[in-house]
Amino acid sequence: METSKTYKILNDEIADLKEQLGEAHDIIEAIRKGEVDAFIVKEEDKHELYTLKSADKTYRIFIERMNEGAVTLNSDNMIMYCNSSFANFVQIPLKNVIGKPFNDFIPETYQSTVAELIKKAWTKKESKAEIVFSGKDKSLPVLLSVNTIEIDSGTALSIIITDLTLQKETQEQKKAMEQKDEFISIASHELKTPVTSIKGYVQILKYTFKQENNNNAVELLSKADAQLNKLSNLINDLLDVKKMENGQLQYHEELFDFNELVNETIEEIARVLPLHPISIEFDKTCTVFGDRNKIGQVITNLIDNAGKYSPAGSPILIKTEKDKNNIRLSVKDHGMGIPVDQQNKVFERFFRVNGEKENTYAGLGLGLYISAEIIKRHKGKIAVESEEMHGAVFYFELPIQ
Ligand code: ADP
Repeated sequence: METSKTYKILNDEIADLKEQLGEAHDIIEAIRKGEVDAFIVKEEDKHELYTLKSADKTYRIFIERMNEGAVTLNSDNMIMYCNSSFANFVQIPLKNVIGKPFNDFIPETYQSTVAELIKKAWTKKESKAEIVFSGKDKSLPVLLSVNTIEIDSGTALSIIITDLTLQKETQEQKKAMEQKDEFISIASHELKTPVTSIKGYVQILKYTFKQENNNNAVELLSKADAQLNKLSNLINDLLDVKKMENGQLQYHEELFDFNELVNETIEEIARVLPLHPISIEFDKTCTVFGDRNKIGQVITNLIDNAGKYSPAGSPILIKTEKDKNNIRLSVKDHGMGIPVDQQNKVFERFFRVNGEKENTYAGLGLGLYISAEIIKRHKGKIAVESEEMHGAVFYFELPIQ
């Protein structure tokens, strides 16, 4: 008998609780939909009225949808309101956030910072601090911006929480770029003089051994000379980038025959690219006004890359095409190509396509950046058309004089 009574009481209590839960759920839904303007919370010794009149429906929807977290605290620093962005930031369901002390969501290491921040804000001083929320899956750097606001029930604190992930990433990228720049600046200056002297000594030795008919030594020294040329081109690239950044790169402009320059460049480069048959299709030639050496440098870079990023033995086609206003030079290879989403990026400083294959080729990701700057300076256009694993066509166009 006693047991069935307890059972009945328990059952009634459960039914009561279910009803209260249903009511609470309805109230929360009504608040979220903007159907309620105020609600009263029964406390032990008093009733506290929370009014939502000031936040009309439009603002509520706006705040609900914004990317920033928004939280309102009462005088006990309990969360009276928060939007779903904040719940996402702390990775806790919205319904488990409202009514809790704000401090519950602050990682231990930042609790004194946030306590100080809130204390300061209550004295009507806007205060800000950066902290990191550490959730289950990831940590999130955020900026807390705290202000007092006047609402019907008195003064409250409003906290806006801004996600700083993107900003931090950009700052880190910028810092890395600056460190690279600084390294480049020092390294290129320090390397230039010794490389130039070594090159001079190698040439003297080559001449001496030639006189002595020591062909073996001459051949070895020619190989050393070719490697030194590579090194010195790299150093020149690094110095060019630095000058470009400071607007100090000198251009010596003149009128020159375009096809003649292309021919000369191919002749020079064909010697270092013996593994690739190069074919040429020339349109009628024309005169271009610009820095002949620098345009030659662009052509060299495109042909060099075509050789570097395609298998030995695969052909390279170099073409010039002329229309009324422009001359176009294109270099087509049958190599690994470039994924569509990275095609524009290859003209950025230090950019190299990510992939197992690309990692096996040495390079700094500067050649195309320098080429693009040179072509831009000549009021031309540079671009690439490519399909991954099906080769690439790099081309540039320059205005005809
Ligand atoms: P580097 O060759 O020194 O890395 P570049 O600025 O000349 O620097 O080229 C940037 C990147 O573009 C290269 O790292 C490579 O990933 C890609 N790339 C350039 N040319 C080609 C090409 N012909 N085929 C495939 N990928 C290329």
